[in-house]
Amino acid sequence: MSLIVGLTGGIASGKSTVSNMISEMGIRVIDADIEARLAVEEGEPAYHKIIEEFGTDIVAATGDLDRQKLGNLIFHNKEKRLRLNEIVHPEVRRRMNEQKESAIRKGEKIVVLDIPLLFESELTYMVDKTILVYVDLPVQLQRLCARNSLSEHEARARVNAQMPLAEKIHLADATINNNGTVEETKSQLMNIMNAWLEENIV
Ligand code: ADP
Repeated sequence: MSLIVGLTGGIASGKSTVSNMISEMGIRVIDADIEARLAVEEGEPAYHKIIEEFGTDIVAATGDLDRQKLGNLIFHNKEKRLRLNEIVHPEVRRRMNEQKESAIRKGEKIVVLDIPLLFESELTYMVDKTILVYVDLPVQLQRLCARNSLSEHEARARVNAQMPLAEKIHLADATINNNGTVEETKSQLMNIMNAWLEENIV
């Protein structure tokens, strides 16, 4: 039986760092952000639906969707934002499920779904177990400022726009404290995975 794990975090919590560690262990990671990009590529069902809804203006000269234009369009318009999500989200779930099923058929022991908004979008039904990568706020702000070259004010605004990591801790089956070194994080990850694998075998 395959164990399906949902990996989540908050901005600059270290989710991608952990996700890369998991891939390096040879475990398949299905990345919601990547699938969301692929779902709207030229010729995909969502691509056509988006053009029907938002008009040909949002198509760039290359034929791809003009993400910036689309972003601007939905930024201040909640209705349009919801409509876009209504088109894209089911496609992303379908793509992720397809890959999950294929991994299960191949008998892979663990499959990880990397989903930034796992709790907010109520997608925990797609997985058996959830892992949250969290850091304390000062660490989160400092890493976000460094990674994205932001001022502390800008970094705070981005963090504040999200569900607080402290709230997500109560929702996760396991948490990885990423305040320390990358090695410490990796060791926590291994412990969680090994414990779950043992449980799943018994
Ligand atoms: P997320 O995917 O959650 O947004 P990242 O994995 O990109 O977060 O991590 C945010 C930033 O912090 C990156 O620049 C990353 O290299 C750095 N980082 C992540 N974990 C650690 C750690 N344990 N120690 C030091 N820097 C880290």
